[in-house]
Amino acid sequence: MQFVPWQTVADWRCRGCGYCCKLYGVVLGFHEWLNLTKTFGAETTVTELDRFYIKRCSDGSCAFLCSKNLNYFCGLQSMKPNACKIWPFKVLAEPKYGEPKQAEYQYMGHTLYVYADTMCNGLRYGSPTWEFQNNTVKEFTELALGQRENQYKTTRSISNPNQWGRRLFP
Ligand code: SF4
Ligand code: SF4
Repeated sequence: MQFVPWQTVADWRCRGCGYCCKLYGVVLGFHEWLNLTKTFGAETTVTELDRFYIKRCSDGSCAFLCSKNLNYFCGLQSMKPNACKIWPFKVLAEPKYGEPKQAEYQYMGHTLYVYADTMCNGLRYGSPTWEFQNNTVKEFTELALGQRENQYKTTRSISNPNQWGRRLFP
């Protein structure tokens, strides 16, 4: 993992490569864990000390990762954990990586620090577009702060949603 300030990113769009869902384990909140075990069974999760995770397959990928024609998508969708919704961004109260000014993000009168994980294939580097700054980063910030649950800009959008019947993410 290597994080860069959001102001070094021109735009982000998920490419459905599935890389994140193959690479990282997903930590679940208690209620997320409860909902998953009730719906899909306890065998889809792993409990370690005081932490809950989604089970990973033998190749390391998330048990809910699906694919079709080399396009990867999340099998959970409406039950997608918050950690997955926020990926590949991180919203912090204090600066942590690189130049603090480049990470500053003003939200509801507060200064936050937003970073992107360079492991994601959906990042395009450069000066932030208006859309990225005012819609995409805002939505990631609201998800991270618990101000919203629904994803619009932070999930993969496709030109023909009926092809899949739903919006996609990884
Ligand atoms: S979020 Fe990034 S790494 Fe994950 S599937 Fe989309 S493009 Fe790939
Ligand atoms: S986005 Fe879905 S498939 Fe990917 S790690 Fe999260 S739960 Fe698993």
